[in-house]
Amino acid sequence: MSFNDVVDITILGAGPVGLSAAYYAGHRDATVRIVESLEQLGGQVAATYPEKHVYDVAGHPKILGQNLVDLCVEQGLQYGAEAILGEEAKTLERLSQNGEEIYALTTDKGGPYLSRSMIVTAGHGAFEPRKLGVEGIDEWLGRGLHYVVREKAQFSGKRCVIVGGGDSALDWTLGLQDTADLPITLVHRRDRFRALETSVNEAKRLEDEGAVRILTPHEVREVHGDGDIEAVTIENTKTGELERYDCEALITLLGFVSHLGSIAEWGIELEGKRQLKVNPMTMETNVPLVFAAGDVAGYPGKITLITIGMGEAAIAANNAVAQIRGEKVQPKYSTD
Ligand SMILES: Cc1cc2nc3c(=O)[nH]c(=O)nc-3n(C[C@H](O)[C@H](O)[C@H](O)COP(=O)(O)OP(=O)(O)OC[C@H]3O[C@@H](n4cnc5c(N)ncnc54)[C@H](O)[C@@H]3O)c2cc1C
Repeated sequence: MSFNDVVDITILGAGPVGLSAAYYAGHRDATVRIVESLEQLGGQVAATYPEKHVYDVAGHPKILGQNLVDLCVEQGLQYGAEAILGEEAKTLERLSQNGEEIYALTTDKGGPYLSRSMIVTAGHGAFEPRKLGVEGIDEWLGRGLHYVVREKAQFSGKRCVIVGGGDSALDWTLGLQDTADLPITLVHRRDRFRALETSVNEAKRLEDEGAVRILTPHEVREVHGDGDIEAVTIENTKTGELERYDCEALITLLGFVSHLGSIAEWGIELEGKRQLKVNPMTMETNVPLVFAAGDVAGYPGKITLITIGMGEAAIAANNAVAQIRGEKVQPKYSTD
């Protein structure tokens, strides 16, 4: 497929819901192009919790996040959907070509990508990690600074400083016990953690054993190293005392900031500040042939879970296909 071919459906966002929409559209013989701002498929699951277990997706009693999205990729791309990675959607215009009304999507890097309809599965929008307030912090990326834990093996035998007070920080302080050089240093700017009590209690128990060093209320003030990270300076914000801690890995798990960005400027009615309002019977927005599904789609009573988004993806894809072809919406079973 060439980039300027008109496809039936552009899917915006390659999380579990976008991949499900690609499956349902492909199953109905529709042509599909997926546009994704990250360099990888799998959305929030692959980006933020690939090594956590997920228990509530039907048919999978317990599955690692990355394994779940790998299966979504296998299923979603089986009919030949084209996936364009590393491009953030910017503008959406309606235009007329060869007597046909189509959509033209441009990104920060390219386009226009042409299609008869759109399914927006953009989650919370393009998201990026919340960062430490240390000047030039991004320069340490790839040199010891991590915003997510993708593979535990990366931290094998390394002295790790983990920053954060929520579940991710606590989960990885516990989760890297069998991988990192101990003790793992856990830094949080407040006295109290926001994480699950059982995780906090386990970290305190490990502190007594010398496997964790908990520093609260503390903040990382400086990063040192010649090339790669070698140490950080951490301030005790109660006393103002500064201390240097040697480490090879600085893992900051401070959550993500996300924004709908340009999508909010496409004339689509919003539900609150972060979601596109849809008719839950069809998943269509107020803009004709622009559908939404998953976390980004809003209606009264919405529950943002993978399994709900996958159902919405089926509704959106089947309605998009039916509208493009001028047919009634009908289920088509996949069994052969
Ligand atoms: C720590 C954590 C644990 C969770 N655990 C569970 C659980 O156990 N069970 C469960 O059901 N749910 C869980 N969730 C929620 C679940 O991950 C989301 O409901 C799910 O990922 C939503 O899928 P999605 O495809 O709608 O959006 P996302 O997974 O967010 O994917 C959206 C994709 O769209 C891309 N995108 C956004 N804007 C643009 C743009 N302008 N241009 C191009 N691409 C764009 C993003 O980069 C992203 O890859 C959890 C979430 C977190 C953070």
